[in-house]
Parts: sequence; C-alpha cells; structure tokens
Amino acid sequence: MDAGAVTFPRRKTRQITVGDVPVGGGAPITVQSMTITKTADVEGTLQQIYALAAAGADIVRCTCNEPEAAEGLARIVPRSPVPIIADIHHQYRRALEALEAGVHGLRLNPGNIRKPEHIKAVAAEARDRNVPIRIGVNGGSLHPDLYAKYGNVVTPEAMVESALDEIGYFTEVGFDLIKISVKASNVPLMIEAYRQLADATDHPLHLGVTEAGPLPNGYIKATAGIATLLAEGIGDTIRYSLTADPVLEAKAGRALLESYGLRERKNVDLIACPSCGRAEIDVYAVADEAQEAFAEKQLPLQVAVMGCVVNGPGEARDAEIGIAAGNKRGHLFIKGENVAVVPEDEMVDTLVEWATMIHEEGMDVALERAKATRDEARKAAAEDRERNLNERGDDANASEQTVELLRRARES
Ligand code: SF4
Repeated sequence: MDAGAVTFPRRKTRQITVGDVPVGGGAPITVQSMTITKTADVEGTLQQIYALAAAGADIVRCTCNEPEAAEGLARIVPRSPVPIIADIHHQYRRALEALEAGVHGLRLNPGNIRKPEHIKAVAAEARDRNVPIRIGVNGGSLHPDLYAKYGNVVTPEAMVESALDEIGYFTEVGFDLIKISVKASNVPLMIEAYRQLADATDHPLHLGVTEAGPLPNGYIKATAGIATLLAEGIGDTIRYSLTADPVLEAKAGRALLESYGLRERKNVDLIACPSCGRAEIDVYAVADEAQEAFAEKQLPLQVAVMGCVVNGPGEARDAEIGIAAGNKRGHLFIKGENVAVVPEDEMVDTLVEWATMIHEEGMDVALERAKATRDEARKAAAEDRERNLNERGDDANASEQTVELLRRARES
C-alpha cells in the first residue's frame, strides 16, 4: 500500500461550530492553545492571539477570571482572527459575562462550578445565543462527591461520570452544543478516560494531557496521550498544555496533526538523518540552519538533510527535495534522483531556492531545470559515494571491529 494512503478511521460524532470553525462530525481536527496574558490587557492578548493563529491555532482560549477580563473579551473578540473561548472556573457569573461579551465558546469545569442552578443558567444563556460549551473535566479538580464515591482516587469512571452528570444538567434546559474533555496529567489515566467517554457519548472530544510540563518531556507526555487516541480515531480538537511559550503549543499541535496526515501540511516537513560514522558534515548544524531558513516560509513540502551521499538520497527518496553531503560539496536530489552539485556552504541556500521553485512553479519546471546539471550531478554523486565507501568501508561505524574486540576481551 502507498504510505500516503494509510489513514486512521475517525470516530463518528455530532458536529458543533465554534465561531466559524466546525468541530467533530468529520471536520478537520483543530488545534487550540491558550493565552497567558491578562485578558484585561487587550493589546497584549490580541498580539498573542495573532501569534498563536500564525503558528497554527484554529481556536484560542482566554481566561475570564475577573470582570475586567470579560470587558477585555468584549474588545478582543471583534478583532480576533480566530474564534475565542472563555475559560471559566468557580464563578458562573464570569460565564454569563463572557457570553455577553460575544465569545464563540465557553469552557466550564464541572469540578468547580457545582450548583445545578448555576450550571443550568449558563447553559440556557448559551442555548439562546447558540454558543457551544466544553465540559472540561480535569483529573486534578474532580467534583469532590465523585472523588469520594470512587474511594478518593481519580479514576477514568469518575471523570466520565462527571462529564455525563454535566450533560444531564445541560439536557434539562435543552442545550446540546457540547464538546467534552477528560484531561489528566497521568497519561494512561487520560487515555482510558477518553476511551470510555468515546463509548459513552457521540459528542465531539477535545484532547489534552493537562499540565504536561516543561520541554522536552511536556512534548512527549502530551504526544503520548493525544497521538494514541488520534490513532484510535478518538479526538476532534487538541491542545498541548506545555509549560512553555503557547506558540510552541500551537506549533506542536499542528505538527502532530500534519505528521498523522490529519491536516494538510502548511510548512516544510524537515526530515534529517540522525548522522553516523559515515556523515560528511555536521548534520545537526546543517539541519538547524535549514530549519531556521524554512521557518517563516509557507512551503508544504518534505525536505531532507542527509549526512552522506552513500545512503542519503535513497533513504530520503519520499522527500520532494533534499541535500546530501559529499566530499566538501552538497548533492541536491529530487525524489531520490541527484540533480545538482553545490559547494558545501551553499547547501541550505540551494535547498531553499529549489524548494521555493517547486512550490511556486511546480515539480515539472524544477525537473526541466535539473536537466542541465543532472548528468554531472549523477557522476559527482557516484564519485563521492565511491570515495566514502573506500575511506569508511561498508561498516562506517566500525561495529564489526568493536564486536571483535568485545569477543576477544571475553575470551582472554
Ligand atoms: S549513512 Fe549517511 S544518511 Fe544514513 S545516517 Fe549515516 S550519514 Fe546519515
């Protein structure tokens, strides 16, 4: 099967819309993040919202924790490039104010807005305004009654029950524009809670590992939870909760969805070999340089940086374009075929130039241009491949010599 044809089946859900962004019901999975400014700081918050949108966020959440924050939302919402969700804890009045301010969605925590009449008042207002609500259950702030009921332990069952209880209140007032999250910082707990929730309801689900923490472990924890569920078809919108610049959250969410083929690629997908004894350049430095050079360019291509011409072009033949290091020169290749040779210090500039041409003028134009240099490029690649093999042998990492040494040491 062609690798591009492998897809994950998606769980069928109802669809809601947050502003003009559909969530669930087969819509593209969306990326969310949250501002860390004071929402009352309108200009600062908008600046961050724009940065998040540019980094790939489809929806942004802002805290609505004080009356000034609700006033800030009233000024932010009309100027925001993406739908805005108000994050509500403890105070149901903030939810009513946020609705009045015109937000496109609310997030309520059933663990800390507990009075049924308050929950129903918010749901009724949201119903009248056609604004969706996320039921945001959080393992760390579970409703105390449920915590006690399940033996003072946070269990997947308790988290799911909390969400279903909240749906019950919403249903009483005829409100069903719902999405749900059951986040926990414990990854296996979070995964199991979402699995049970997916069996229990057909509302769209918002995935996240809460308090995933600083990088790089935060990336790993969040990805472990979110990616596992996405591969099972569960999840309609995602958020990386990192202790880091929220722009990195949006970028991570976007990168995960693109790597899963769940969203169209917007930027370069840079692949690079891990380097080894055969490398002819500092692969890490060149890959970093390429990452920086492509960072602001919206080129939806896979681009490769490979440390040697012996294995590089072949191993990266799925990439639209790539460069492999040779004897102080770079071998440019398109779909694994060598097309040009350039000095080592021009490798990254050449990659950017050709990638831009492929994106703007098409692959056929690039291949036409390659005709002028292709024969020379093939010859040069063959020479450098030969030289590398002669100098470094078939076993560039000298593994066999090491094994031999280990054996001798054991026998002596
Ligand atoms: S063999 Fe070449 S392409 Fe593969 S890891 Fe080593 S340097 Fe990179």
